[in-house]
Amino acid sequence: MPFGTQPRTAALDEESSKRYIAMTCHTDDPDAERAYLHFVEKIEPQLKPRQFRLAQIYIAHPLRDQLPKPRFDVFDRDTKVQVELFRPENVPLETEEAKLSQQYQKLSGSLTVQFRGEEKTLVQMGRYLEEPDRSLRHEAWQLVAERRLQEAAHFEGIFDRLVKLREQIARNAGFANYRDYAFRKLGRFDYIPADCEQFHEAVEVEIMPVVRELQAERRRQLGVETLRPWDLAMDPLNRPPLRPFDGVDQLAACTQRIFLRLDPGLNTQFLLMQALRLLDLANRKGKAPGGYQSTLAEARLPFIFMNAVGLQRDVETILHESGHAFHALATRDEDLYAYRSAPLEFCEVASMSMELLGNEFLEEFYSRPDADRARRTHLEGIAGIFPWIATVDAFQHWIYTQPGHARAERMAAWLELMERFGGEVDWSGYEAAQANLWHRQLHIFIHAFYYIEYGIAQLGALQIWSNSKHDKAKSLADYKKALELGGSRRLPELFAAAGCRFDLSRKTMAPLVTLVRKELNKLNGGME
Ligand SMILES: [Zn+2]
Repeated sequence: MPFGTQPRTAALDEESSKRYIAMTCHTDDPDAERAYLHFVEKIEPQLKPRQFRLAQIYIAHPLRDQLPKPRFDVFDRDTKVQVELFRPENVPLETEEAKLSQQYQKLSGSLTVQFRGEEKTLVQMGRYLEEPDRSLRHEAWQLVAERRLQEAAHFEGIFDRLVKLREQIARNAGFANYRDYAFRKLGRFDYIPADCEQFHEAVEVEIMPVVRELQAERRRQLGVETLRPWDLAMDPLNRPPLRPFDGVDQLAACTQRIFLRLDPGLNTQFLLMQALRLLDLANRKGKAPGGYQSTLAEARLPFIFMNAVGLQRDVETILHESGHAFHALATRDEDLYAYRSAPLEFCEVASMSMELLGNEFLEEFYSRPDADRARRTHLEGIAGIFPWIATVDAFQHWIYTQPGHARAERMAAWLELMERFGGEVDWSGYEAAQANLWHRQLHIFIHAFYYIEYGIAQLGALQIWSNSKHDKAKSLADYKKALELGGSRRLPELFAAAGCRFDLSRKTMAPLVTLVRKELNKLNGGME
């Protein structure tokens, strides 16, 4: 995933993608791993200075001013900022930052617990939070929380050093604080910190009431006094998991029928991807975990990687990754490579919209009641992620505008945000775990400030979904038109092309929350 504004070249990106795909499809093939690591360790470091040199040559070029104006605006802006931010004295600091990030990942990945006689990773322990047995969930949750707390000083130490480094990097580049630097580095030209603060406020005022209602309902369904941190992930009615499909052939076939009902053009594209074997969907031994969409930049074709095992999560993933794939296909005819991908805030509009639009036709997978259950879980997930995004974002705004802060002050700032966005979860007896909860959020450590992008994109996706309720054909036509623009326009123009407002305030949020609430009520009533 590209962070910030970095120049890329299609041929090298395709080679990198191919090696990454080969490695993740065959983790047991040492040659595939070696080939990928060779690219990362030997080729990428040589690319960076050359790409930077190219950017410098472009900026200094005498004919630069004569490039056609609207066409090259975004390219020019992105290249310019990249040259402006560069400081040779920051190179070793960035290497140090990368090393600390790696330490964080190594520490997080190495943590295990002994659970019922077996050693388990913390990721493996997540599964037990979906079990109906409350005491089992409690036991599993507590073990993980305690294990993380044992490393609290370790996490804090890594983070203190990261903050110091980042503050120095910002100062070297001539910025008053790291927040201002990060906004430039991440290419945030179309919104400022005050817009993020409006987003936090919108979540607090518009979303939190819905989240609290959903939590209260969950508490009633579970028949418990208070909702505890280990009561949040499982089905509150103790129903067995939904089984949308057997085998990936059925997954692909049902997904294709959804696209057929949505739009003939998207259907053709999905069929093309199947015919060209650009989907690797099945979970099998020797495959890396997770799911992603990657683009073969020279061939101008997308590739979807998944580990489908027959769960509703897999249906959400294939719709999501297909949205990214449609985005890649939509920009095939764009000759300027930099414009064949959009800013992250809009990339996720493409994918998240497809989840919402595709969900209208979940009956391809389910009976009506099961489809409604899946839709409800999906919408609850959307409502529930906003407060966490606001928390993580507001926390980082605090951190990087309070130079020289003490750990205790940082913890107090975090707890204040938990109060504001935590809803009615009862942490009593586990106050230390609550105070250190942010240690598990990777972005805070290794991709500073990168997180609100998901919230911004979700606002776009919800608007497209809302438009589709009034005029399905027009909303899809707008969606496709906006995808075709790739990265050639500024964010507000991309949003406008998709029929959305680029605005993070209550004005945009309020009607979307009303719609989500209305749909949730309908789905509740729809229980047959
Ligand atoms: Zn995505």
